[in-house]
Amino acid sequence: MAKLDLMRELTLPQGGKILLLVMDGLGGLPREQGGLTELETARTPNMDRLAREGSTGLSIPVSRGIAPGSGPAHLALFGYDPLVYDIGRGVLEAIGIGLDVREGDVAIRGNFCTIDENGAITDRRAGRIPTEEGEKRVELLKDIQIDGVDISIRAGEGYRFAMVMRGEGLSPEVADTDPQATGVPPLPAKATSPSAERTAELVNRWLEEARKRLKGHEPANMVTLRGFATDPNLPKYRDVYKLKAACVAVYPMYKGVSQLVGMDVIPTGPHDSIADEFRKVGEIWNDYDFVFCHVKPTDSRGEDGDFDAKVAVIEEVDQNLPALLDLKPDVVIITGDHSTPATYRAHSWHPVPTILWAPGTHMTDPVETFGERACLGGALGQFPAPDLMPLALAHARRLVKYGA
Ligand code: ZN
Repeated sequence: MAKLDLMRELTLPQGGKILLLVMDGLGGLPREQGGLTELETARTPNMDRLAREGSTGLSIPVSRGIAPGSGPAHLALFGYDPLVYDIGRGVLEAIGIGLDVREGDVAIRGNFCTIDENGAITDRRAGRIPTEEGEKRVELLKDIQIDGVDISIRAGEGYRFAMVMRGEGLSPEVADTDPQATGVPPLPAKATSPSAERTAELVNRWLEEARKRLKGHEPANMVTLRGFATDPNLPKYRDVYKLKAACVAVYPMYKGVSQLVGMDVIPTGPHDSIADEFRKVGEIWNDYDFVFCHVKPTDSRGEDGDFDAKVAVIEEVDQNLPALLDLKPDVVIITGDHSTPATYRAHSWHPVPTILWAPGTHMTDPVETFGERACLGGALGQFPAPDLMPLALAHARRLVKYGA
């Protein structure tokens, strides 16, 4: 039986309340050999107390040795094996920049590119135009009308954008139009199954109009489209876990992934601080069984390669933590979706330090502080990230026994 089916069978509609606090890219590495990691360097008396009172361990987001993107890494934390449940690239890109993707929609990633007078691509990334230039081009494309389909389009970073097509009978089974080469024209959209013929034709009509409108707007005078995908129709939290769940996050992608698993997305502002987010968790706490709160800057500072700034973000989370603990959650999980060591300036595969705190029901371990090496000695050991949800539900007394 698939694990989520097991959850669907064993979960109770009542029980304790669960808080999942994710510091994106939490895991790190020592700045120099033999030194301390970001988390080990940070002064975190509140998290140390939870580590002392609870169980700790290191989570493996996707599989050993695999550095994940934040999308699949969050799916794993939500209890969905990311190798089984796949969110297509077009959907991730679209939700990542705040477009709404619903069942039956087709979401697509786009790149601006440069074509010459013969229509051949000379630069697949349009000279890496800045985001403002991408936004101007998107303005030109925004009101292209194609019969029978609603199209939303939004600029991403630099030369990237995303679009979502909504209408009857659309199919994501369309091949990329990016030929992955220069000196040749973009490919026409081509259906990879008969049911997608009409979608491909609609896309080609859109592409023709886009080409006309971008003419003369070098270096971004054409587009390529990739990653055609539709809403993955993931099992929802209320069905598999019987949880009324909410998400408090600032960045669109995390809101998007939460929405795909059926969480309510609580409105936040783009400049909300960690304290603002925690305050919002407090405001909605009584209305939900499960709240996921996402902190982004740990990952951002890791990607900047700024070790000290990442330490400061972790300390800021710890200083604000009492606002969450005062809500008296029955189960608290503190973890990251993956590691982003400042020395790497990128996501990495290293297992992620994790605290599972639930007074009275946890297995004690000798761990006294929250850090990578300390968690190596924790009761949870090194475990697949999708195991966290069943553990949290068990601690919340929301699971009945399996079998007689
Ligand atoms: Zn992440």
